[in-house]
Amino acid sequence: MALTSVQSFYSPEDSKGVIELLAKYEDSALIVAGGTFLHGLVSRGLLSGIEALINIQKLGLNQIDVSGATMTVGATTILGQLQSCEQVQKEAWLGAVKDAMTYPPVQIMNSGTVGGSISSSCPFFDFPVTLLALDGNVQAEGGNGARTISLDEFFAGLFENSLEADEFVTGVTIPVPASKSTSAFIKMETNANDLAIINLAVSLSMTDDGSCAGARVFAGGGVGETPVRCSAAEGILSASKLDEDTLEKAGQAAADELDPLSDHRASAEYRKAMGKVLLKRAVTSAIGRLA
Ligand SMILES: Cc1cc2nc3c(=O)[nH]c(=O)nc-3n(C[C@H](O)[C@H](O)[C@H](O)COP(=O)(O)OP(=O)(O)OC[C@H]3O[C@@H](n4cnc5c(N)ncnc54)[C@H](O)[C@@H]3O)c2cc1C
Repeated sequence: MALTSVQSFYSPEDSKGVIELLAKYEDSALIVAGGTFLHGLVSRGLLSGIEALINIQKLGLNQIDVSGATMTVGATTILGQLQSCEQVQKEAWLGAVKDAMTYPPVQIMNSGTVGGSISSSCPFFDFPVTLLALDGNVQAEGGNGARTISLDEFFAGLFENSLEADEFVTGVTIPVPASKSTSAFIKMETNANDLAIINLAVSLSMTDDGSCAGARVFAGGGVGETPVRCSAAEGILSASKLDEDTLEKAGQAAADELDPLSDHRASAEYRKAMGKVLLKRAVTSAIGRLA
């Protein structure tokens, strides 16, 4: 990484130190965690005027806690650590996270962090889409103290989020569902190192008789400047038996809700068509987890 404008590299040992540095440097400082996304920005010449890097690896934010009603994942938890988490491997409701962790290359699994994945605010990433389907929240700290930001409100645009200049992400939280729930995620990609052509995550709350009581569906990867919620598809899946006819209608509704871009990876029409396919496959995969 050759960030020639950088004059200082800090490794504070507490949140206060990070917040003071963010306040001091404002737009000319950047947090660095695993550095995997920053590296890409630098190599494409997309970062300039950065005078200071603030490494947050010494804050001890690499813990996962799944006790009680909330799952908490610290910001510097690496993706590989999340993949190894027992609950992620076993629990149907966390199936979407398990699925998303099968895609990144091993180098990214070993250095990319949960906080970095969220904070990059890149609509092509996979993990944020799964967190949205699981109704996750961002935990942030700044000069005005700590606050919880709903992930729906966190993503503000392409590479933009709602953090204040002196705030940083300390972790993410996911509510543990009170009733039987399941989830799944699917990414369509050109190769194992590429961003998604389109990706989609679904989370389903189920009743004892096998009906769907509620659904959350989000798509990413070239479908908007932030991940897109497929509300009409959620409405069709909710209070249904999730039979073939329902999946067909929900898949079409999801496709109709997407207004994708055309780029070198795929046309908008192809992305829309695949939105329908991914929704049907993701719901089928999520239901299969309960068997
Ligand atoms: C080759 C390659 C393949 C990839 N494949 C996938 C994939 O298949 N699926 C997928 O979902 N993702 C994929 N990614 C994206 C990857 O998940 C992210 O690059 C990684 O998670 C970012 O984490 P990091 O710690 O490296 O972030 P950094 O590069 O350290 O930081 C990224 C950005 O977030 C900011 N930041 C970091 N941490 C914080 C924080 N705690 N608070 C506030 N701001 C912060 C930084 O200032 C920077 O702007 C891939 C990336 C690469 C390079």
